[in-house]
Amino acid sequence: MPRALLPLLFAFAVAPGFAAAADSLPTGKLPQDATPLHYALHLTVDPRSDRFAGMARIRVRLAQATDHVWLHAQKLDITQSSATDAAGHPIAAKATAHDDSGVLEVRFEHKLAPQQIELAFTYGAAFNGQLEGVYKVKVGDDSYAVTQMEPVSARYAFPGFDEPRFKTPFDLTLSVPKQDVAVANTLQVGEETSTDAKWKTLRFATTKPLPTYLVAFAVGPWDVVDAPPIAANTVRANPIPLRGIGPRGSAKKLAWVLEQTPAIVKFYEDYTAQPYPFDKLDLLGAPDFAAGAMENAGLIVYRDAYLLVDEHSAADTYRNVFNINAHEIAHQWYGDLVTVPWWDDIWLNEAYATWAQAKATVALHPEYYGALEALEAHLGAMGSDSLLSARKVRQPILGRGDIETAFDGITYEKGAAILGMFESWLGDDVFRQAMRSYLARHAFGSGSADDLIASIAEVSGKGETLRKAMHSFLDQPGVPLIRSELMCKEGKASLQLSQSRFLPYGVLGKDAPRWGVPVCTRFGHGATSDTQCFLLEQAAQSFVLERACPDWYLPNADARGYYRFDLAAGDLGKLGVAAAKLSAPEQMIYADALASAFKRGEIGPALVLDAMPSLAGAELPQMATALLPTFEWIREQLGDATTRPLLDAYAIHLYEPHLRQLGYRRKDGEPGTATALRTRLAQFLALIVRDPATRAELARQGRTALGFDGARDTDLTRADADLLGLALKVAVQEGGAPAFEAAQHELARNHDTAQRYSLLGALGATRDPALAATARDYGLSAAVQIGEMSRLYRAQMNEPENRAAMWQWLQDHYEAYRQRLPAFAQSELPDSVSAGRCSGTSADEVSAYFAPRIKDLIGGERGLGQTLEDIRQCAALREHVGTKGLAGWSEAHAPGH
Ligand SMILES: [Zn+2]
Repeated sequence: MPRALLPLLFAFAVAPGFAAAADSLPTGKLPQDATPLHYALHLTVDPRSDRFAGMARIRVRLAQATDHVWLHAQKLDITQSSATDAAGHPIAAKATAHDDSGVLEVRFEHKLAPQQIELAFTYGAAFNGQLEGVYKVKVGDDSYAVTQMEPVSARYAFPGFDEPRFKTPFDLTLSVPKQDVAVANTLQVGEETSTDAKWKTLRFATTKPLPTYLVAFAVGPWDVVDAPPIAANTVRANPIPLRGIGPRGSAKKLAWVLEQTPAIVKFYEDYTAQPYPFDKLDLLGAPDFAAGAMENAGLIVYRDAYLLVDEHSAADTYRNVFNINAHEIAHQWYGDLVTVPWWDDIWLNEAYATWAQAKATVALHPEYYGALEALEAHLGAMGSDSLLSARKVRQPILGRGDIETAFDGITYEKGAAILGMFESWLGDDVFRQAMRSYLARHAFGSGSADDLIASIAEVSGKGETLRKAMHSFLDQPGVPLIRSELMCKEGKASLQLSQSRFLPYGVLGKDAPRWGVPVCTRFGHGATSDTQCFLLEQAAQSFVLERACPDWYLPNADARGYYRFDLAAGDLGKLGVAAAKLSAPEQMIYADALASAFKRGEIGPALVLDAMPSLAGAELPQMATALLPTFEWIREQLGDATTRPLLDAYAIHLYEPHLRQLGYRRKDGEPGTATALRTRLAQFLALIVRDPATRAELARQGRTALGFDGARDTDLTRADADLLGLALKVAVQEGGAPAFEAAQHELARNHDTAQRYSLLGALGATRDPALAATARDYGLSAAVQIGEMSRLYRAQMNEPENRAAMWQWLQDHYEAYRQRLPAFAQSELPDSVSAGRCSGTSADEVSAYFAPRIKDLIGGERGLGQTLEDIRQCAALREHVGTKGLAGWSEAHAPGH
């Protein structure tokens, strides 16, 4: 918990007459008049201890005369602070920590003229308990220290100017126990051993200019694997040392990601024409970590489950490892080489990395279908962007909550979709040239959205038109809904387009936003098709087509546009007939048009259900399952004792034969799409519609893995790698206390994070009330790492039988639960306990409970507001469609028909 104020801190005898603070505490950005130029940090870190210690020297330029400097520090016990002027003379200085806000105030005895001064601090701190700043992880008898500074946690590690616009070189020195391995952003350049031979002091090379949030180090009994250096090429003259680092015993599982990495680095070098910016590349898998991974310059830190793979890993895990690695490596250019000046532009970092990662995946692993995966994520972002309370991509930052909630689907997926849409409109070559120009202009410095848009506007020659169009997507929330109608007269054709905001049923927007939407449209003529793009800027516009009247058209060619569309009935019918001629992403857009028409209350459930057979047989997993989220909503919210069994039988009939044909184990040499589809279908059949045949097979695999049915010992590799998590869930659901206890027993000795996720999901998924209670309490014990907790609780909430008890338990254990949540996870707390809620009363219940507590959750107000809106939207649609919405369909599908 933050303390209100730290004791006064002195370096020199405190002279009387320190002026009281004349200016107020900066709660947003720090003032402009003090700029850090260089940091020298010396930290003493023993992961077996409870605390670490540090000394920080910061060279600061004062732009104008002042008697104080504001910077950041939080939860640091500063025991000594001092200042030195440009001539090397000491200046009496007093430091006061405003710990609630994380601001550190250093006040001098008298006003200093503009000059360069040095501030120095000696401090100690406890390792952080929420995976921020410098924290420790225990794995069996081993202890590790790991860092996570983004967004505003460097202030837990050292005093500094903790804002992204300040980029400076850092000199880092670490004193660590002799037997430990220590790594940092740069290559190690010196090592000394203490006279008692118990400690070593490591010096690391001066970094390139970095913001505080990209500083990183790690200490512990790590395995380190030296890979061959990444070879020089036409863009880069020197080879780059490459290493993989993981918890003790993990060395072998680093091999695959190290093999993949050089091609990823080269891909971005070719694209950006900028060499990899740092002196080495380390990929480190931490045994507990809050986010998926963090792009620290030269030392990328991952959850170890997202870095380590071997022959027993799921195919999904391989794909995730590749994607996440490609994302973090992209950040070395987008974010690290060029850094956004302030958090309102953090979308640039994340949108770039997400957009670039998909490019790398498509180029290097076409069998992963990266474009479909990206599209599925864009459609997901449209879901959250349909809330009236959705964030803007470029949301103003008013406090820490806005910073911590900025890392959401709007930032990553909508941001990436916008980049992709304008790339597709301008052409790949123009866009690449603009990106190159932007990176070259701002290398090792800062670049904002305005800087990027200026580069794109200049290179494309589209100037103000482009600028206005891009800003219309960045500076206002929402998904455009494009209504379109084709007019054909005497061989001449035109397209009438109009725009409004896409909103679900019953939601009324107050204003009428306008976007500048590049509507690229595919026109079908006989056996061929071509594409024409129109920039829709007004509420409604008419565009003349280059060619004669088409047979059909799709107003989102290649599915690259970030908008939804609504076709005149006749046009939609023609498109439906031509659907087989569309590419896979375009077919997904077509399915999304159906799902979103249902969300708007314009079509009933029968139309969605009747469209399912046309997709159920698809080989691509994203297509085969495109309508399942809508099916699940219909099943849960509209289904009753009569109709739900009919819906389940219908879905089983559609999907179970497909799964049976794929088989329940991965076959040698099968395409990755088959493997991914098997996992998705098994998940749906076993856990949603609870198909007895699928469950029996999964239970069999899970029981053998847990040591039942003659297996005698536990060996999780006995289950199919891709179905392990599901198999354990079903085995625990069906197997009662003995299976539950076997999973818990295995957790006590298993240190493989990916396997632990499966085991924790299984404990959470039990539907036995007493075992579910045991699972909930277990999730708060030291046996479960902080980053693992959500596996258990999410699985618990996914089972409707557990929801009421979980809600009650949360209220009884609220403080203990909240205190384990990392900062950025706090805003998600209301949503994480709201699954299945779909009535005004249940929204009121959530609202009433959280209202008095929300101020203590970072970003909680936004998280709660969106959760409540979600529940109320659900309630409105449910009321609109009503259970009668299923009446006609269920009559037609009742047994005997
Ligand atoms: Zn990222």
